[in-house]
Amino acid sequence: MFDIDKVQELCVFTTHTPVKVGHDKYSFSMFQRIANDYIDIDTLKKVAGGDELNMTCLALNLSGRINGVSAQHQKIAQQQYPSFKVDFITNGIHPPTWVSPSFANLYSRYIPEWRHQPAVLARADQISNAEIWQAHVDAKLAFANYLKNLTAAQIDCDLFTIGFARRMTDYKRPDLLFKDLQRLKDISRRFPIQIVFAGKAHPKDRRGIELIKTLIDYIDALKNDISMIYVQDYDMEVAQHLIPGVDIWLNTPKPPMEASGTSGIKAAFNGVPHLSVLDGWWIEGHIEGVTGWSIEYHGNDDKDADDLYLKLEEIILPLFYEKQSEWQGVMKSTISKNSRFNSHHMMRRYVAEAYIS
Ligand SMILES: *Cc1c(COP(=O)(O)O)cnc(C)c1O
Repeated sequence: MFDIDKVQELCVFTTHTPVKVGHDKYSFSMFQRIANDYIDIDTLKKVAGGDELNMTCLALNLSGRINGVSAQHQKIAQQQYPSFKVDFITNGIHPPTWVSPSFANLYSRYIPEWRHQPAVLARADQISNAEIWQAHVDAKLAFANYLKNLTAAQIDCDLFTIGFARRMTDYKRPDLLFKDLQRLKDISRRFPIQIVFAGKAHPKDRRGIELIKTLIDYIDALKNDISMIYVQDYDMEVAQHLIPGVDIWLNTPKPPMEASGTSGIKAAFNGVPHLSVLDGWWIEGHIEGVTGWSIEYHGNDDKDADDLYLKLEEIILPLFYEKQSEWQGVMKSTISKNSRFNSHHMMRRYVAEAYIS
């Protein structure tokens, strides 16, 4: 028997998703075949679940502290694991990795400490609208050039560009934007839009693969009305170009499945406001009309899509096309209010609250 107390003293467990397939399980017979010499199976069964080697169960039992990755996720995980105490530290992104070169140059000129102390980006709202806008135009151009080298597809840098890129899977509802094609066409006739998608599905996620096919079909069905691009092989490099190169970052998860979500934070550091269902980190980062816009969740895709269209047509697109300085103001408050979701801050919290407390 090993010393559980000693192991718990050394371990912190951060659970990352309420989605079932995110929690690995293996048969004990497989474990015995591979690692029988290391630990006695009856001992293992006591901490890893009786029937299967449940990695989440193992981590819960052997950790001195358990974290969720956002305030909302803490509540959900606490309901999932009522016999354990669950805390949370909200995720953050690493700014030097995710800020585009044009914004990095701008920040370095006005707020040189930003790389090591990203919280100082709270002062980004003091930079002029013109310089923020120019950095964004440059990021959009850089993305257009990147695409040109990657595919035959082109984007028009003058058009309002919606970005949606992440793992393609059911709960993220990448098809929500297409619930009413006529409505989408009508909106784009008033205020021209273009849409950039990217994202892979897990090879065993049949619904995820089907969703990608559905999106490709919509791109074809709308080809005379709305320009849409699906960028293949989504990875960090694509993300580094795509996210800063769009005008709004869309996310349409079914709450409470998005434990944190991080791409919306990457967008914020590049002055790209978020348009998203309230879930994960966004519940903490959302200020309506200041850091982006929410999409109401009704538990009904048609109603949710209706809210999405309404926000686009009545609020977001008129602001972008007709009130440029107000739009640029939203870009600046997006950066300054949400730069606190950075990994420097997150790491300090892990050290202070989880590892040395
Ligand atoms: C940030 C990132 C993600 C996560 O995106 P979410 O919208 O938070 O799910 C997935 N894939 C890549 C390549 C990323 O860079």
